[in-house]
Amino acid sequence: MELQGAFLAADTLFPDATLDEIRATAASRNPALFDRERNLLVMSFHSIVVRAPACAILVDSCVGNDKPRPNNPHWHQRKGPYLDDLAAAGLAPEDIDIVMCTHLHADHVGWNTRLRNGKWTPTFPNAQYLFAKTEIEHWQEVLANSAPGEINHGSWADSVAPILDSGQAMLVSTNHEVADGVALLPAPGHTPGNVIVKLEQQGERAYLTGDVIHHPIQVERPEWSSCFCQDPEESARTRLETLSTVARDNAWLLPAHFPTPTAARVGRAADGFQLAW
Ligand SMILES: [Zn+2]
Repeated sequence: MELQGAFLAADTLFPDATLDEIRATAASRNPALFDRERNLLVMSFHSIVVRAPACAILVDSCVGNDKPRPNNPHWHQRKGPYLDDLAAAGLAPEDIDIVMCTHLHADHVGWNTRLRNGKWTPTFPNAQYLFAKTEIEHWQEVLANSAPGEINHGSWADSVAPILDSGQAMLVSTNHEVADGVALLPAPGHTPGNVIVKLEQQGERAYLTGDVIHHPIQVERPEWSSCFCQDPEESARTRLETLSTVARDNAWLLPAHFPTPTAARVGRAADGFQLAW
C-alpha cells in the first residue's frame, strides 16, 4: 500500500454520473469507501505480490519515490516506505522475479525504477518486466506526436523507457501465460493494451483487474467509466464482462484502487451486481 485516502471528487472521476446518483449507491453510505461530507471517493494505490510456486510476481508498481509529478501533489517527489513495506512482507527487491503493469498510467509504473546516483534504475534487478506489446506500441505512437512530459505525467521517461533500455523488458500478447496458474487476459477500454491478471489454484480464482474497476461504486453502476478511460464505452463493456466472470466463478476481485481490505467478492443482485467483502 503506497497511498490511501479520500482525495478524488466522485463526479470528477465518473463524468457520466450526477452527485445524486452517486450518493444513492449503497457503497456511498459506507464511510470506508466514501466521504459523504466532502463527496470524495476513498481510494488506495497499492501493488499486489503474487507468490506463485516458482516465482514472485509484483503487479502494478504504483507511483514511486522521487518522481517529478508537479500536477499531482499526492504523487510529487514522494518519499514513501514502499520498499520497507515490501521488506516487512519478506521480500527484497532482488526477490521479485516478474513485474507486470496492467497498463502504463503513471500510478501503475512508478516503482519500476528508483533514483540511483541521479539515474532512473530498475528497482527489481533480477526481474523480467512484462508489458503488453499493444500497450507499449500505443504509447509509443502517442509520444511520437507529443512532448513526453505531457503524457502520463512524464512517467514514460522515468519509469518505462529505462526498463526498455535495460534489456529487462519482455513484450507479450494481452493473452499470455505468465506462470503456472497465472495468465494475462485482454481488458481494453481504460487503455488499448490494458490487461487483467487471472490467478487460479486448486479451483480458487482471483482476478487482478487493475483499473477496469476503479471504485466499489462501479460494481453497482458498471456503466460509469472513469474520466481516465480512453474509450469509455469499451471500458464499460469490459467492466460488465469482468464482473460477470468474477460473480460466475465466485472469485476474488482485486482491483488496483479499492481501499482496505482491497479484495472483494461480487454477487448477483436483482438488477446487476453487489459487493460482498
Ligand atoms: Zn490507476
